[in-house]
Amino acid sequence: MASQSLGPNGGVLSRTQALSHLPQRPPVNISFQDLTYTVQDGKSSKLILRNINGEFRSGQLTAILGPSGAGKSTLLNILAGYRVVGAAGSICTNGSPRDLRQFRKLSRYIMQEDLLQPLITVQEAMAIAADLKLGSEMTTSKKRVVVDEIIQMLRLHKARETVTERLSGGERKRVSIALELLNNPPVIFLDEPTTGLDDVASSTCVSLLKRVARGGRTVICSLHTPSARLFAEFDHVYVVAAGRCAYQGSAAGVVPFLRELNLPCPKTYNPADFVIEVSSGEYGQHVERMVSAVDNGRNHRWRTFAIECAEDVIEDQDIEQLNTGNAEEQDKIYCSTAAQQFLILLRRMLLQTVRNRGYLWLRVGLHLFLGFIIGTLFDKMGYDASKTIFNFGFCYACIIVMFYIPMMPVLLAFPTEVQLVKREYFNRWYGLKPYYAALVVSRTPATIFFSLMYLCITYPMTSQPLETSRILMFATICILTALISESMGTVISSSLSVVNSVFMGPALSVPLMLLAVYGIGDGDNPSPLFWRLARACSFLRYGLEGLVSAIYGPPRNDLVCPDDVDYCEYKNVAYFVKMMGMSGVSFWLDVGVLALMLLAMNLAGYYLLRQRLSPNFAFRAIKVIGRFIKTKISVSPH
Ligand code: ADP
Ligand code: MG
Repeated sequence: MASQSLGPNGGVLSRTQALSHLPQRPPVNISFQDLTYTVQDGKSSKLILRNINGEFRSGQLTAILGPSGAGKSTLLNILAGYRVVGAAGSICTNGSPRDLRQFRKLSRYIMQEDLLQPLITVQEAMAIAADLKLGSEMTTSKKRVVVDEIIQMLRLHKARETVTERLSGGERKRVSIALELLNNPPVIFLDEPTTGLDDVASSTCVSLLKRVARGGRTVICSLHTPSARLFAEFDHVYVVAAGRCAYQGSAAGVVPFLRELNLPCPKTYNPADFVIEVSSGEYGQHVERMVSAVDNGRNHRWRTFAIECAEDVIEDQDIEQLNTGNAEEQDKIYCSTAAQQFLILLRRMLLQTVRNRGYLWLRVGLHLFLGFIIGTLFDKMGYDASKTIFNFGFCYACIIVMFYIPMMPVLLAFPTEVQLVKREYFNRWYGLKPYYAALVVSRTPATIFFSLMYLCITYPMTSQPLETSRILMFATICILTALISESMGTVISSSLSVVNSVFMGPALSVPLMLLAVYGIGDGDNPSPLFWRLARACSFLRYGLEGLVSAIYGPPRNDLVCPDDVDYCEYKNVAYFVKMMGMSGVSFWLDVGVLALMLLAMNLAGYYLLRQRLSPNFAFRAIKVIGRFIKTKISVSPH
């Protein structure tokens, strides 16, 4: 009986037909009591949710309505577990207190902004998500069937081959929903899924959400201003007014409810608009009465109809659950192993790198340009004994190029990437370890390639020694420096916005560059201990030392002093290296330190990203203390 529901076009679609191969999930009912949410707003704290109560049931499509700023997104964030700090009260799933870790495995949150992976088509995005979320137990052909079904269900077949950036607003929204539907989550939260969509797109979206709900899932979405027709589609309506519950019950019950409070809805008026207007105080101070009539969400009177309807569906689901009960399914956090996640993500990142043609050509052009400029500036200085100092300048220039060029694009792009990762990570697509490993591995080939391209031009142009070992040594140092810089970009931008990271990157690099050359020209006179320690922190110093020992390390003959020059002070290479304060350096030590720094930088990047996405206790404490100090400092004297 309930396994048949009316499709949006009036056609009958059976539930099994709609999503045949997906694992069945148990129904999850959510209720919350005395929920409050406080934020620190400047000097004072601000109460956003005020002791609200409510219950959302499986098999139903629930709408959270309310004027803008009422607290709809806040309520969703808290129920989904996206925000935890500052919330108080109790949230229950199926009658027992919510275990956030378990709950996160069951729920998916589709946020208001549709952040989709760039440069891949809808079909590819779905295939990648299916690989990540359906695991390897399911065969590729079965996955394809699942993807096809969802694409059909969400009417995305026309946009299949379209790259995500070119999708229309409605299509983007539907793709976001499609991606999360893949592993049949029992609870789905959506923040304003219809905002920005036209009437047709909104009603398509809502009727498919209803179909999803009828499949035994709890679907909760916040809405801004639904049309009367859209409004009637909802099984359950929850109105939020200034952080409190002003109505909870069936859509059809809104008008009788308001009439009972002496607020008759005009015949030709959209009840959704009316209830939102009333609750935003447009017709006088009635919010208080509404809130007390439903006892801030505790009163169930207006919900009777909806619950009966839901029980029907749940019974049906329970039977199905008995047939397919799979307990271990619930215990896994991710559906694919870490190695699989790594390979899938690596493939996706490499695909995106290759697709980003414009950027690749830009990098080619930039490296050619820099190569020729620097090659011309230091033309043939490699063996000229009168220009040894300038050749040292060439080494420094190489280090600066290897430092800046790989770091800047990361500073610009990674903060946006973090937002995307946040969504996918929150919705349990993959773990951060495989993600970070794939990130590092995917960008390494391009960095190595472009570093070598630059060296292929400058090294011969500046007449450096053409011995295989020296060339390899020089290239190794350059590549290590470039990789560290890239990781340093990740470290800086993993916890900052684009603007702040683009400021922080160069600001931090100035001391590093200055420390790299500190003490040069002093010969063997040791610098003060403090400065030597400070210098040891700059990886650019090891890079510079490495380059100098690569080209000047023994055994190297004296340089050639040109005929027209009377005296070449730095003809002897060992003497020059000594004057630069680098006589004791060992190439292999430098390589070792650089490799260690690369490792440390990557570990730091991973750690900061992890803290950004799921802060541990210490990190949260630091934030709270920081906020506390800020408020105390800004308190005015009176
Ligand atoms: P909406 O119902 O439009 O989704 P929100 O839940 O986003 O509203 O926000 C509810 C209210 O809480 C708004 O007035 C908003 O300004 C305020 N608010 C939300 N987060 C914060 C915060 N971190 N600091 C201060 N005010 C906040
Ligand atoms: Mg909102």
